[in-house]
Amino acid sequence: MANSPILPGSTLGVLGSGQLGRMFTLAARRMGYRVHTFSPESDTPTGQVADLEITAHYDDLDAVREFARGVSVVTFEFENVPAATAAAAAEYAPVRPGGQVLHVTQHRLREKTFLAQNGFPTTAFRAVRTAEDARLAAADLGTPAVIKTAAFGYDGKGQSKVNSPAEAQAAVAQSPGVERIYEAFVDFEREVSVVAARGTDGSFSHWGVIDNSHRNHILDLSVSPADVPPNIATEAIAITRGILEKLEVVGVLCVEFFLTKSGRLLVNELAPRPHNSGHLTIDSHVTSQFEQQLRAVCALPLGSTEQLRPAAMANLLGDLWKAGEPNWPAACALPGVELHLYGKAEARRGRKMGHLTALANTSAEAANLALEARRQLQTNNDE
Ligand code: AMP
Repeated sequence: MANSPILPGSTLGVLGSGQLGRMFTLAARRMGYRVHTFSPESDTPTGQVADLEITAHYDDLDAVREFARGVSVVTFEFENVPAATAAAAAEYAPVRPGGQVLHVTQHRLREKTFLAQNGFPTTAFRAVRTAEDARLAAADLGTPAVIKTAAFGYDGKGQSKVNSPAEAQAAVAQSPGVERIYEAFVDFEREVSVVAARGTDGSFSHWGVIDNSHRNHILDLSVSPADVPPNIATEAIAITRGILEKLEVVGVLCVEFFLTKSGRLLVNELAPRPHNSGHLTIDSHVTSQFEQQLRAVCALPLGSTEQLRPAAMANLLGDLWKAGEPNWPAACALPGVELHLYGKAEARRGRKMGHLTALANTSAEAANLALEARRQLQTNNDE
């Protein structure tokens, strides 16, 4: 029976081994599951807390099959696993969300085309491969614009802002033939996201609208609930639900939106897994995005997403280690602040090492507290 529940005591498989897999694994172990993780690395954030860490390349399909044979369901925390990997795993265990979700979301052009064809609002875009394509796109959509590689992009990687048609052509001419997407630049008021889950029975749940600010294209601060008008929140959730249903997602998916100055919501990106903006749900909601991923992929009833307290999450990037070990006691001394670290040994610039969640009486207070806690990390440890 495809949808019979996978019960505690079973073993779950995670493709990928970063912090998302780690937080999924912690939720799974709390509920009495075992977890096997598969990735090319070792001593990983997920592997450190899993029952078994398999180190092999994603294109080692025999190793992928062996991994899938040992688990009741396969999910992923890294959506850029090759389609063949997901297909090989699916020979032995259900893969949730399914390969079709990966196929659409791991390629920006396919994703935007899917959104546009199904009537979901998104930024105006064109496919570009050559300088001539870029010239035509610039004539059509104008500048400024953002040019992004179609595959393997995240956190602003492989993307550049161009301010004139000449810049657009030059950006593409650097490596002609690479598939790219040319997007009109959106002068947005703010960025928001909706993290949501869908079960095998079509049940749906979400954590409302989360407000996100970025620094250098990397998420910096998330605040929940976002301070948006109720009609915007209702629309964002309806769009998100429509996307999960259309893609037949089983699991968690995040929709990132631009909210324009004229009050329009445009979908920027989809992430078919728990999302950085949803990390605060661990501390602030009855059921976290990670537990919900587990419930969804195990065909268990989805949990309550009731919010316990307003919350904010501040990312901790490797840059914070510049002047030595951050002052952990100083941040932990603040009431309502929770520390999450991902077990990464090397603090490189821009690398996500952990996050702080702050709980307070209002979103604004939570945001201030999270930022204050992060500032405290850089105070002198010896004081
Ligand atoms: P992405 O990798 O597509 O999520 O982009 C990373 C960040 O770059 C977004 O969160 C935005 O802050 C910015 N960005 C991406 N696309 C656009 C756009 N079309 N207009 C304005 N800003 C953008």
